Amino acid sequence: LFITIEGPEGAGKSTILQKLANEMEERKFDVVLTREPGGIQISEQIRQVILDPKHTAMDSRTEALLYAAARRQHLIEKVVPALERGAIVLCDRFIDSSLAYQGYARGLGIDEIFTINQFAIQDLMPDKTLYFDVEPEVGLKRIEKHRGREINRLDLEKLDFHYRVREGYKTLLNMFPDRIVEIDASQSFEAVYTHAKRLVEELIAK
Ligand code: C5P
Repeated sequence: LFITIEGPEGAGKSTILQKLANEMEERKFDVVLTREPGGIQISEQIRQVILDPKHTAMDSRTEALLYAAARRQHLIEKVVPALERGAIVLCDRFIDSSLAYQGYARGLGIDEIFTINQFAIQDLMPDKTLYFDVEPEVGLKRIEKHRGREINRLDLEKLDFHYRVREGYKTLLNMFPDRIVEIDASQSFEAVYTHAKRLVEELIAK
């Protein structure tokens, strides 16, 4: 079972995923919690290149290709072996991030980004995608408050970029209505967690 989690920074994805994975492990499920870009050494190194604040000259197509390369390696080294042994893979970001950020918000085109990602993933699409929806202002305020992670180049983008990312995700919800489900991530942590957990439990029960 391959589940991906999407949404802007500050939507609470990683905290909720960590709690969900812990709880499922306690219940003796084989769970693999991972993230993109990253999750394995090669892809974490590509992540550092992409997100380095010094790399202001990064071309948007270069960026899109690096995300696809990181995705490919992570899929082959970590996700596919886990799925093959029957694990539940919870992946923080996947192809929809590229479609929303690079395809829509950066204006490279959802279809074009889908094409380069098809080359990278060879039809291995997620079974389900949980999209954490939150107003960009709310998300960015949460990050300021809980800044426990690295500040990156992309945090410095203007607010209107983050609005476009959100529009991109809304477009994807219409394109893939069977695969992507929306969670209102402006609610309390407990409410968001309960919703996400219920969706994952439904998928496991299927
Ligand atoms: O998920 P996380 O917040 O760790 O993502 C790292 C950064 O990469 C974020 O700033 C996110 O907006 C950005 N990103 C991006 N395009 C992607 C994936 C992530 O701009 N395809």
